Amino acid sequence: MKGNFNQSSNEPELQGVALLDLKRQYEVLKDEIAESLKKVCDSGAFVLGPEVKVLENNIATYSQAEHAIACASGSDALLLALMATGIGPGDEVLVPSFTFFATASAVTRLGARPVFVDIEPKSFNMSVIDTARKITAHTKAMIPVHLFGQMAEMVELNRLAQQHGITVIEDAAQSIGAEFEGRRAGSWGDMGAFSFYPTKNLGGAGDGGLVTTRNSQLAQLLKLLHVHGMEPRYYHRIIGINSRLDSFQAAIINVKIKYLESWTMMRIQNAQRYNEMFLDAGLGNKIGIPKPFPNRRHVWNQYTIRVSDGQRDELRKNLAERKIGSEIYYPFGLHEQECFRYLGYSSESLPETHRASREVLSLPIFPELTEQEQQLVVRSVKSYFDVNPARHVFPAATAVPVKKRDAA
Ligand SMILES: *Cc1c(COP(=O)(O)O)cnc(C)c1O
Repeated sequence: MKGNFNQSSNEPELQGVALLDLKRQYEVLKDEIAESLKKVCDSGAFVLGPEVKVLENNIATYSQAEHAIACASGSDALLLALMATGIGPGDEVLVPSFTFFATASAVTRLGARPVFVDIEPKSFNMSVIDTARKITAHTKAMIPVHLFGQMAEMVELNRLAQQHGITVIEDAAQSIGAEFEGRRAGSWGDMGAFSFYPTKNLGGAGDGGLVTTRNSQLAQLLKLLHVHGMEPRYYHRIIGINSRLDSFQAAIINVKIKYLESWTMMRIQNAQRYNEMFLDAGLGNKIGIPKPFPNRRHVWNQYTIRVSDGQRDELRKNLAERKIGSEIYYPFGLHEQECFRYLGYSSESLPETHRASREVLSLPIFPELTEQEQQLVVRSVKSYFDVNPARHVFPAATAVPVKKRDAA
Protein backbone atom coordinates (compact mmCIF):
# COMPACT_ATOMS: atom_id res chain seq x y z
CA MET A 1 0.00 0.00 0.00
CA LYS A 2 2.49 2.60 1.17
CA GLY A 3 5.89 2.56 -0.42
CA ASN A 4 7.47 5.19 1.78
CA PHE A 5 9.10 2.69 4.13
CA ASN A 6 10.91 0.78 1.44
CA GLN A 7 14.56 1.26 1.78
CA SER A 8 16.44 1.85 -1.43
CA SER A 9 19.96 0.55 -1.85
CA ASN A 10 21.61 3.91 -1.24
CA GLU A 11 20.15 4.23 2.24
CA PRO A 12 22.26 3.33 5.28
CA GLU A 13 22.52 -0.27 6.38
CA LEU A 14 19.83 -1.45 8.79
CA GLN A 15 20.72 -1.31 12.47
CA GLY A 16 18.21 -3.94 13.50
CA VAL A 17 14.56 -4.91 13.15
CA ALA A 18 11.86 -4.18 15.70
CA LEU A 19 9.39 -6.94 16.57
CA LEU A 20 6.63 -4.38 16.13
CA ASP A 21 6.90 -0.74 15.05
CA LEU A 22 3.56 1.00 15.57
CA LYS A 23 5.02 4.39 14.73
CA ARG A 24 5.10 3.63 11.00
CA GLN A 25 1.36 3.15 10.98
CA TYR A 26 0.79 6.22 13.09
CA GLU A 27 2.89 8.43 10.78
CA VAL A 28 0.51 7.65 7.93
CA LEU A 29 -2.70 8.15 9.97
CA LYS A 30 -1.61 11.03 12.20
CA ASP A 31 -3.87 13.73 10.71
CA GLU A 32 -6.90 11.50 10.34
CA ILE A 33 -6.59 10.34 13.95
CA ALA A 34 -6.11 13.86 15.31
CA GLU A 35 -9.21 15.02 13.49
CA SER A 36 -11.32 12.12 14.78
CA LEU A 37 -10.18 12.75 18.37
CA LYS A 38 -11.01 16.43 18.06
CA LYS A 39 -14.51 15.50 16.96
CA VAL A 40 -14.96 13.41 20.09
CA CYS A 41 -13.80 16.30 22.27
CA ASP A 42 -16.16 18.68 20.51
CA SER A 43 -19.09 16.27 20.90
CA GLY A 44 -18.57 15.77 24.63
CA ALA A 45 -19.73 12.15 24.32
CA PHE A 46 -16.80 10.34 25.93
CA VAL A 47 -18.23 6.94 26.87
CA LEU A 48 -20.32 4.72 24.58
CA GLY A 49 -21.02 7.66 22.28
CA PRO A 50 -21.91 7.61 18.58
CA GLU A 51 -18.35 6.56 17.66
CA VAL A 52 -18.85 3.36 19.67
CA LYS A 53 -22.11 2.62 17.81
CA VAL A 54 -20.33 3.13 14.49
CA LEU A 55 -17.53 0.82 15.61
CA GLU A 56 -19.98 -1.88 16.68
CA ASN A 57 -21.63 -1.73 13.26
CA ASN A 58 -18.27 -1.74 11.50
CA ILE A 59 -17.02 -4.83 13.33
CA ALA A 60 -20.33 -6.69 13.08
CA THR A 61 -20.22 -6.22 9.31
CA TYR A 62 -16.52 -6.97 8.99
CA SER A 63 -16.80 -10.12 11.08
CA GLN A 64 -20.01 -11.34 9.43
CA ALA A 65 -21.81 -11.43 12.76
CA GLU A 66 -25.11 -9.58 13.23
CA HIS A 67 -24.38 -7.97 16.58
CA ALA A 68 -21.35 -6.44 18.23
CA ILE A 69 -21.07 -5.10 21.77
CA ALA A 70 -17.97 -3.05 22.56
CA CYS A 71 -16.37 -3.31 26.00
CA ALA A 72 -13.23 -2.33 27.87
CA SER A 73 -10.82 -5.12 26.81
CA GLY A 74 -10.50 -8.50 25.17
CA SER A 75 -10.28 -10.04 28.63
CA ASP A 76 -13.64 -8.48 29.52
CA ALA A 77 -15.09 -9.65 26.20
CA LEU A 78 -14.32 -13.23 27.25
CA LEU A 79 -15.69 -12.63 30.75
CA LEU A 80 -18.91 -11.09 29.40
CA ALA A 81 -19.41 -13.95 26.95
CA LEU A 82 -19.03 -16.47 29.79
CA MET A 83 -21.41 -14.44 31.98
CA ALA A 84 -23.96 -14.40 29.16
CA THR A 85 -23.61 -18.20 29.00
CA GLY A 86 -24.44 -18.37 32.70
CA ILE A 87 -21.13 -20.00 33.67
CA GLY A 88 -20.60 -20.43 37.40
CA PRO A 89 -19.34 -22.76 40.14
CA GLY A 90 -19.47 -26.45 39.20
CA ASP A 91 -19.17 -25.75 35.47
CA GLU A 92 -16.27 -26.82 33.31
CA VAL A 93 -15.02 -24.78 30.36
CA LEU A 94 -12.68 -26.31 27.78
CA VAL A 95 -9.79 -23.99 26.90
CA PRO A 96 -6.44 -24.53 25.21
CA SER A 97 -3.45 -24.35 27.53
CA PHE A 98 -1.32 -22.78 24.78
CA THR A 99 -2.84 -19.29 24.82
CA PHE A 100 -2.73 -15.94 26.56
CA PHE A 101 -3.68 -16.01 30.24
CA ALA A 102 -7.03 -14.23 29.83
CA THR A 103 -8.64 -17.17 28.02
CA ALA A 104 -8.52 -19.24 31.20
CA SER A 105 -8.68 -16.58 33.91
CA ALA A 106 -12.08 -15.42 32.67
CA VAL A 107 -13.35 -18.91 33.56
CA THR A 108 -11.92 -18.90 37.08
CA ARG A 109 -13.23 -15.39 37.79
CA LEU A 110 -16.74 -16.86 37.59
CA GLY A 111 -15.87 -19.71 39.95
CA ALA A 112 -15.84 -22.30 37.16
CA ARG A 113 -13.09 -24.74 36.26
CA PRO A 114 -10.91 -24.38 33.17
CA VAL A 115 -10.20 -27.77 31.60
CA PHE A 116 -7.01 -27.54 29.57
CA VAL A 117 -6.93 -29.05 26.10
CA ASP A 118 -3.78 -29.87 24.14
CA ILE A 119 -3.02 -28.37 20.73
CA GLU A 120 -2.82 -29.72 17.23
CA PRO A 121 0.89 -29.12 16.55
CA LYS A 122 0.71 -27.70 13.00
CA SER A 123 -1.79 -24.93 13.75
CA PHE A 124 -1.03 -24.49 17.49
CA ASN A 125 -4.82 -24.53 17.96
CA MET A 126 -7.07 -26.60 20.20
CA SER A 127 -6.96 -30.28 19.22
CA VAL A 128 -10.36 -31.66 18.24
CA ILE A 129 -9.41 -35.13 19.48
CA ASP A 130 -8.32 -33.89 22.89
CA THR A 131 -11.37 -31.62 23.12
CA ALA A 132 -13.69 -34.61 22.53
CA ARG A 133 -11.78 -36.64 25.13
CA LYS A 134 -12.24 -33.97 27.81
CA ILE A 135 -15.98 -33.34 27.53
CA THR A 136 -17.87 -34.35 30.68
CA ALA A 137 -21.38 -33.92 32.02
CA HIS A 138 -20.18 -30.65 33.59
CA THR A 139 -18.84 -29.09 30.37
CA LYS A 140 -20.86 -25.95 29.64
CA ALA A 141 -18.65 -24.06 27.21
CA MET A 142 -15.50 -24.20 25.12
CA ILE A 143 -13.24 -21.34 24.10
CA PRO A 144 -11.37 -22.17 20.91
CA VAL A 145 -8.59 -19.62 20.48
CA HIS A 146 -7.66 -18.63 16.94
CA LEU A 147 -4.00 -18.41 17.81
CA PHE A 148 -1.49 -16.19 15.97
CA GLY A 149 -4.11 -15.28 13.33
CA GLN A 150 -5.29 -18.69 12.15
CA MET A 151 -8.70 -20.08 13.02
CA ALA A 152 -9.21 -23.28 14.96
CA GLU A 153 -10.98 -26.30 13.39
CA MET A 154 -14.43 -24.72 13.77
CA VAL A 155 -16.51 -27.24 11.81
CA GLU A 156 -15.44 -30.14 14.02
CA LEU A 157 -15.52 -28.12 17.24
CA ASN A 158 -19.01 -26.79 16.50
CA ARG A 159 -20.18 -30.33 15.74
CA LEU A 160 -18.87 -31.56 19.11
CA ALA A 161 -20.48 -28.59 20.85
CA GLN A 162 -23.82 -29.26 19.22
CA GLN A 163 -23.74 -32.94 20.13
CA HIS A 164 -23.15 -32.10 23.79
CA GLY A 165 -25.09 -28.86 24.15
CA ILE A 166 -21.95 -26.80 24.76
CA THR A 167 -21.71 -23.05 24.14
CA VAL A 168 -18.87 -22.00 21.83
CA ILE A 169 -17.01 -18.75 22.55
CA GLU A 170 -14.35 -17.92 19.99
CA ASP A 171 -11.30 -16.14 21.34
CA ALA A 172 -10.61 -14.08 18.24
CA ALA A 173 -8.34 -11.54 19.98
CA GLN A 174 -5.48 -12.32 17.57
CA SER A 175 -7.57 -13.06 14.52
CA ILE A 176 -9.82 -10.29 13.30
CA GLY A 177 -10.47 -10.98 9.61
CA ALA A 178 -9.30 -14.59 9.76
CA GLU A 179 -11.48 -17.04 7.83
CA PHE A 180 -12.39 -20.69 7.97
CA GLU A 181 -13.82 -21.92 4.67
CA GLY A 182 -14.51 -18.33 3.69
CA ARG A 183 -16.36 -17.32 6.84
CA ARG A 184 -14.88 -14.92 9.35
CA ALA A 185 -13.72 -15.34 12.93
CA GLY A 186 -16.42 -14.24 15.35
CA SER A 187 -19.26 -15.60 13.20
CA TRP A 188 -18.75 -19.32 13.91
CA GLY A 189 -19.37 -19.66 17.62
CA ASP A 190 -22.27 -18.52 19.78
CA MET A 191 -20.10 -15.52 20.56
CA GLY A 192 -16.71 -14.16 19.54
CA ALA A 193 -14.33 -12.14 21.72
CA PHE A 194 -12.06 -9.49 20.17
CA SER A 195 -9.35 -7.24 21.55
CA PHE A 196 -8.18 -3.81 20.41
CA TYR A 197 -4.99 -3.91 22.45
CA PRO A 198 -2.34 -2.00 20.45
CA THR A 199 -0.41 -5.12 19.37
CA LYS A 200 -3.43 -6.82 17.81
CA ASN A 201 -4.10 -6.55 14.06
CA LEU A 202 -6.67 -3.82 14.74
CA GLY A 203 -5.36 -1.97 17.78
CA GLY A 204 -6.45 1.22 19.49
CA ALA A 205 -4.33 3.52 21.62
CA GLY A 206 -5.06 1.69 24.85
CA ASP A 207 -7.38 -1.08 25.97
CA GLY A 208 -10.55 -2.08 24.20
CA GLY A 209 -12.57 -5.15 23.33
CA LEU A 210 -15.77 -6.38 21.74
CA VAL A 211 -18.12 -9.36 21.66
CA THR A 212 -19.82 -10.50 18.44
CA THR A 213 -22.86 -12.73 18.19
CA ARG A 214 -25.50 -13.70 15.64
CA ASN A 215 -28.00 -14.40 18.41
CA SER A 216 -30.18 -11.37 19.22
CA GLN A 217 -31.09 -12.67 22.70
CA LEU A 218 -27.44 -13.02 23.60
CA ALA A 219 -26.81 -9.56 22.15
CA GLN A 220 -29.49 -8.06 24.42
CA LEU A 221 -28.04 -9.84 27.44
CA LEU A 222 -24.49 -8.68 26.63
CA LYS A 223 -25.70 -5.09 26.24
CA LEU A 224 -27.12 -5.30 29.75
CA LEU A 225 -24.19 -7.13 31.32
CA HIS A 226 -21.53 -4.61 30.31
CA VAL A 227 -23.39 -1.66 31.91
CA HIS A 228 -24.04 -3.17 35.36
CA GLY A 229 -27.24 -4.85 34.13
CA MET A 230 -28.87 -1.44 34.23
CA GLU A 231 -32.04 -0.85 32.19
CA PRO A 232 -33.59 1.66 32.47
CA ARG A 233 -31.26 3.93 34.42
CA TYR A 234 -30.88 2.78 38.07
CA TYR A 235 -33.03 -0.31 37.61
CA HIS A 236 -31.01 -3.56 37.89
CA ARG A 237 -32.62 -6.94 37.18
CA ILE A 238 -29.32 -8.75 36.79
CA ILE A 239 -25.79 -8.17 38.08
CA GLY A 240 -23.36 -7.10 35.42
CA ILE A 241 -20.00 -5.37 35.34
CA ASN A 242 -18.74 -1.99 34.23
CA SER A 243 -16.95 -2.62 30.96
CA ARG A 244 -17.45 0.19 28.48
CA LEU A 245 -15.39 1.35 25.54
CA ASP A 246 -14.60 5.05 25.46
CA SER A 247 -15.23 7.16 22.38
CA PHE A 248 -11.54 8.05 21.90
CA GLN A 249 -10.65 4.41 21.38
CA ALA A 250 -13.64 3.86 19.12
CA ALA A 251 -12.79 6.93 17.03
CA ILE A 252 -9.21 5.73 16.47
CA ILE A 253 -10.29 2.18 15.64
CA ASN A 254 -12.91 3.53 13.22
CA VAL A 255 -10.13 5.32 11.35
CA LYS A 256 -7.92 2.24 11.35
CA ILE A 257 -10.52 -0.31 10.26
CA LYS A 258 -10.56 1.26 6.78
CA TYR A 259 -6.96 0.08 6.39
CA LEU A 260 -7.35 -3.32 8.03
CA GLU A 261 -7.78 -5.31 4.80
CA SER A 262 -4.70 -3.79 3.20
CA TRP A 263 -2.66 -4.33 6.39
CA THR A 264 -3.81 -7.94 6.47
CA MET A 265 -2.69 -8.41 2.85
CA MET A 266 0.70 -6.96 3.76
CA ARG A 267 1.00 -9.42 6.67
CA ILE A 268 0.11 -12.31 4.34
CA GLN A 269 2.68 -11.14 1.82
CA ASN A 270 5.34 -10.83 4.53
CA ALA A 271 4.63 -14.36 5.72
CA GLN A 272 4.94 -15.74 2.18
CA ARG A 273 8.16 -13.86 1.70
CA TYR A 274 9.63 -15.26 4.93
CA ASN A 275 8.68 -18.79 3.93
CA GLU A 276 10.36 -18.40 0.55
CA MET A 277 13.41 -16.70 2.05
CA PHE A 278 13.85 -19.38 4.71
CA LEU A 279 13.63 -22.10 2.07
CA ASP A 280 16.07 -20.27 -0.21
CA ALA A 281 18.46 -19.93 2.73
CA GLY A 282 18.40 -23.72 3.19
CA LEU A 283 16.68 -23.48 6.57
CA GLY A 284 13.59 -25.43 5.49
CA ASN A 285 14.21 -28.31 7.87
CA LYS A 286 16.43 -26.61 10.44
CA ILE A 287 13.47 -24.60 11.67
CA GLY A 288 9.77 -25.40 11.58
CA ILE A 289 8.23 -22.97 9.09
CA PRO A 290 4.58 -22.08 9.69
CA LYS A 291 2.33 -23.62 7.07
CA PRO A 292 -1.26 -22.39 7.17
CA PHE A 293 -4.11 -24.76 6.45
CA PRO A 294 -5.46 -24.31 2.89
CA ASN A 295 -9.09 -23.92 4.02
CA ARG A 296 -8.26 -20.92 6.23
CA ARG A 297 -7.18 -17.33 5.81
CA HIS A 298 -4.33 -16.78 8.26
CA VAL A 299 -4.04 -13.09 9.22
CA TRP A 300 -0.59 -13.43 10.81
CA ASN A 301 -0.84 -11.56 14.08
CA GLN A 302 2.34 -13.55 14.72
CA TYR A 303 4.77 -15.33 12.41
CA THR A 304 5.93 -18.17 14.60
CA ILE A 305 8.69 -20.61 13.76
CA ARG A 306 9.79 -23.65 15.72
CA VAL A 307 13.37 -24.19 16.77
CA SER A 308 14.27 -27.42 18.50
CA ASP A 309 14.42 -27.68 22.23
CA GLY A 310 17.57 -26.09 23.58
CA GLN A 311 18.42 -24.06 20.48
CA ARG A 312 15.42 -21.72 20.57
CA ASP A 313 16.69 -19.66 23.49
CA GLU A 314 20.23 -19.59 22.04
CA LEU A 315 18.93 -18.34 18.71
CA ARG A 316 16.79 -15.71 20.40
CA LYS A 317 19.79 -14.41 22.35
CA ASN A 318 21.79 -14.35 19.16
CA LEU A 319 19.08 -12.36 17.37
CA ALA A 320 18.86 -9.92 20.29
CA GLU A 321 22.60 -9.25 19.95
CA ARG A 322 21.94 -8.31 16.34
CA LYS A 323 19.03 -6.10 17.47
CA ILE A 324 16.45 -8.36 15.86
CA GLY A 325 13.25 -8.36 17.89
CA SER A 326 11.59 -11.69 18.68
CA GLU A 327 9.25 -13.00 21.35
CA ILE A 328 8.17 -16.28 22.86
CA TYR A 329 4.40 -16.72 22.75
CA TYR A 330 4.16 -18.59 25.11
CA PRO A 331 7.05 -19.88 27.25
CA PHE A 332 4.73 -22.14 29.30
CA GLY A 333 1.36 -23.71 28.85
CA LEU A 334 -1.19 -22.25 31.24
CA HIS A 335 -1.44 -25.69 32.85
CA GLU A 336 2.13 -25.13 34.08
CA GLN A 337 1.46 -21.73 35.66
CA GLU A 338 1.71 -21.49 39.43
CA CYS A 339 -1.79 -20.06 39.84
CA PHE A 340 -3.31 -23.08 38.05
CA ARG A 341 -1.33 -25.71 39.96
CA TYR A 342 -4.44 -26.50 42.02
CA LEU A 343 -5.97 -27.97 38.87
CA GLY A 344 -3.44 -30.81 39.09
CA TYR A 345 -1.89 -30.96 35.61
CA SER A 346 1.65 -32.22 35.19
CA SER A 347 3.83 -30.45 32.61
CA GLU A 348 3.84 -33.46 30.28
CA SER A 349 0.11 -34.10 30.55
CA LEU A 350 -0.33 -31.86 27.48
CA PRO A 351 2.67 -33.02 25.43
CA GLU A 352 2.15 -30.87 22.32
CA THR A 353 1.62 -27.73 24.39
CA HIS A 354 4.72 -28.54 26.40
CA ARG A 355 6.80 -29.09 23.25
CA ALA A 356 5.49 -26.00 21.47
CA SER A 357 6.19 -23.75 24.45
CA ARG A 358 9.86 -24.85 24.34
CA GLU A 359 10.17 -24.48 20.55
CA VAL A 360 8.22 -21.43 19.38
CA LEU A 361 9.77 -18.13 18.39
CA SER A 362 7.78 -15.27 16.88
CA LEU A 363 9.56 -12.97 14.42
CA PRO A 364 8.68 -9.45 13.19
CA ILE A 365 5.65 -9.61 10.83
CA PHE A 366 3.92 -6.21 11.14
CA PRO A 367 2.46 -4.84 7.85
CA GLU A 368 5.04 -2.12 7.23
CA LEU A 369 8.02 -4.47 7.64
CA THR A 370 10.24 -4.10 4.57
CA GLU A 371 11.75 -6.80 2.39
CA GLN A 372 15.22 -5.58 3.43
CA GLU A 373 14.30 -6.02 7.08
CA GLN A 374 13.02 -9.52 6.40
CA GLN A 375 16.27 -10.33 4.59
CA LEU A 376 18.21 -9.22 7.64
CA VAL A 377 16.06 -11.40 9.92
CA VAL A 378 16.56 -14.44 7.68
CA ARG A 379 20.31 -13.78 7.28
CA SER A 380 20.62 -13.52 11.05
CA VAL A 381 18.83 -16.81 11.63
CA LYS A 382 21.03 -18.39 8.97
CA SER A 383 24.25 -17.15 10.52
CA TYR A 384 23.23 -18.69 13.84
CA PHE A 385 22.79 -22.08 12.16
CA ASP A 386 26.01 -21.65 10.14
CA VAL A 387 27.89 -21.65 13.45
CA ASN A 388 25.56 -23.94 15.43
CA PRO A 389 24.41 -26.94 13.38
CA ALA A 390 20.74 -27.77 13.86
CA ARG A 391 20.25 -30.51 16.44
CA HIS A 392 16.88 -31.45 15.10
CA VAL A 393 15.49 -31.98 11.61
CA PHE A 394 11.96 -30.71 11.08
CA PRO A 395 9.79 -32.73 8.73
CA ALA A 396 9.69 -31.46 5.15
CA ALA A 397 5.92 -31.09 5.51
CA THR A 398 6.42 -28.00 7.65
CA ALA A 399 8.65 -26.49 4.98
CA VAL A 400 6.16 -26.12 2.14
CA PRO A 401 5.73 -22.48 1.11
CA VAL A 402 2.43 -20.69 1.47
CA LYS A 403 0.35 -20.86 -1.70
CA LYS A 404 0.32 -17.65 -3.72
CA ARG A 405 -3.46 -17.68 -4.03
CA ASP A 406 -3.79 -17.01 -0.28
CA ALA A 407 -2.89 -13.40 -1.04
CA ALA A 408 -5.22 -13.03 -4.02
C1 LIG B 1 -4.77 -10.21 23.78
C2 LIG B 1 -5.52 -11.45 24.06
C3 LIG B 1 -6.57 -11.48 24.98
C4 LIG B 1 -6.92 -10.35 25.89
O1 LIG B 1 -7.13 -9.16 25.32
P1 LIG B 1 -6.91 -7.79 26.18
O2 LIG B 1 -7.55 -6.76 25.33
O3 LIG B 1 -5.44 -7.62 26.31
O4 LIG B 1 -7.58 -7.97 27.47
C5 LIG B 1 -7.27 -12.66 25.11
N1 LIG B 1 -6.95 -13.75 24.40
C6 LIG B 1 -5.93 -13.77 23.53
C7 LIG B 1 -5.64 -15.01 22.76
C8 LIG B 1 -5.17 -12.62 23.34
O5 LIG B 1 -4.14 -12.65 22.48
